[in-house]
Amino acid sequence: MANSKHIIIVGAGPGGLCAGMLLSHRGFKVSIFDKHPNVGGRNRAITMDGFTFDTGPTFLLMKGVLDEMFELCGRRSEDYMQFMPLSPMYRLLYDDREINVYSDRENMRAELERVFDEGSAGYERFMDNERSRFNRLYPCITRDYSTLASFFSLDLIKALPWLAFPKSVFKNLGQYFDKEKMRLAFCFQSKYLGMSPWECPALFTMLPYLEHEYGIYHVAGGLNRIASAMAQVVTESGGEIHLNAEIASLIVEDGVAKGVKLKNGEEVRGDEVIVNADFAHAMTHLLEPGTLRKYDHEELKKREYSCSTFMLYLGLDKQYDLPHHTIVFAKDYRTNISNIFSNKTLTEDFSFYVQNASVTDDSLAPPGKSALYVLVPMPNNDSGVDWQAHCADVREQVLDTLGERLALTDIREHIECEKIITPGTWESDEHVYKGATFSLSHKFSQMLYWRPHNRFEELDNCYLVGGGTHPGSGLPTIYESARISSNLISRKHRVNFKEIQQSAWLKKAKA
Ligand SMILES: Cc1cc2nc3c(=O)[nH]c(=O)nc-3n(C[C@H](O)[C@H](O)[C@H](O)COP(=O)(O)OP(=O)(O)OC[C@H]3O[C@@H](n4cnc5c(N)ncnc54)[C@H](O)[C@@H]3O)c2cc1C
Repeated sequence: MANSKHIIIVGAGPGGLCAGMLLSHRGFKVSIFDKHPNVGGRNRAITMDGFTFDTGPTFLLMKGVLDEMFELCGRRSEDYMQFMPLSPMYRLLYDDREINVYSDRENMRAELERVFDEGSAGYERFMDNERSRFNRLYPCITRDYSTLASFFSLDLIKALPWLAFPKSVFKNLGQYFDKEKMRLAFCFQSKYLGMSPWECPALFTMLPYLEHEYGIYHVAGGLNRIASAMAQVVTESGGEIHLNAEIASLIVEDGVAKGVKLKNGEEVRGDEVIVNADFAHAMTHLLEPGTLRKYDHEELKKREYSCSTFMLYLGLDKQYDLPHHTIVFAKDYRTNISNIFSNKTLTEDFSFYVQNASVTDDSLAPPGKSALYVLVPMPNNDSGVDWQAHCADVREQVLDTLGERLALTDIREHIECEKIITPGTWESDEHVYKGATFSLSHKFSQMLYWRPHNRFEELDNCYLVGGGTHPGSGLPTIYESARISSNLISRKHRVNFKEIQQSAWLKKAKA
């Protein structure tokens, strides 16, 4: 079913690769360009001295969405990757208690009874009610909002009461759970969007629900293997991936995207251009100022962005007794949140997340050694923090805190190799606007119809995929953005494609 239309994709991140595999499978000529020497973007591997780390994503949620993307390409994801369900999913550590979190209902009930005075009654209501919310909202997440008419869809009208506007996730959880520490176990996931649970819209209570309903997965070799698998499907279907190929600008003529100009001066022309590079970075670097009124550089500055992260990847000559995922709450969680999102200052009492994936997957470190990934949420670069000046101090603080909160007191003696990414380097080296690692904030006024559309209104033949467009940041939603944009392009060119009307993986909500 080959057709002659040429699709150019800027960026081989999860969004660009997923769009690339869908479109090349449908017979389009696909050319993907990425400035890095490897595919995957923030989902690519970091390899050092025999250790492998994922740069960013480590939690695979909604595996069913990923499976569907492969199915749409006539393939089975299992033929490309080995998925490992995690049980417990993760451990949460407070100043005065810890809990293992399971997607298995019996184990979860028992843990809640063991750790919290209020027990597990609210958990049952949480699961039932949030299942109803998710099933009603999911069709709204998977549709395109590029026109005002699409906004007034029956799906969205029916789902409006379930948006629980203007409640936050934290407030929404009040209907199930009483105490703050209990709620934290079900709202820290707002950080997956780089948001505060006190600001994150209630509809995102779907994140903890999805974990508890469908579980979370590791992929053997790291989640970066998803990007490699998608790249393999692109090339198997005849697409091309050009690495070390930075795009300097989009070629725009009379309001139409005609192709791309590479940094080396070469021009490549095509029929449609898909932008997967970080949204606000692309708008401010790949287009001449004034090309788009809606995404004018000054206007973009005023939008709200997610927080950033300080990353420490440690290759250790020792194995520690730590679970696959541990989330450690700051002793004063609310102050930590205010420091990140309102005050935009550094803080000594911080929350952090540690991945010790080599306990599950021995391919990630040499025998007897371990690969530790530490993520500390930080203010984005609106903070004005000089990261070159502060990087070394923050590293020391993080190592001290690993000693204090996780008893890794001897960690400094066991570091064989390490890599750091700061909010500064997210912006300078990874091309992430303001270092906001989870892109535009997911507040109500930047969601659904109000998030940058998958198809540009002011620029013909140009589409967006990735965390900066609808539906938003996170691997499953990014894959959905790729499906939406690929379907728009396929329909425009009257190319038939397989659609999945009812996702088989979704569990039914009670009426
Ligand atoms: C630290 C961290 C942890 C995360 N954890 C999770 C998680 O556990 N689970 C989850 O689901 N999600 C997680 N995410 C969120 C999200 O899934 C990832 O950030 C994801 O990689 C974003 O994908 P993307 O398609 O938007 O683009 P990106 O991954 O940003 O890829 C964009 C690509 O465009 C390329 N590019 C940019 N400019 C140019 C140019 N001018 N020319 C050529 N190429 C260019 C870049 O090199 C890059 O490869 C995490 C993110 C981060 C940062």
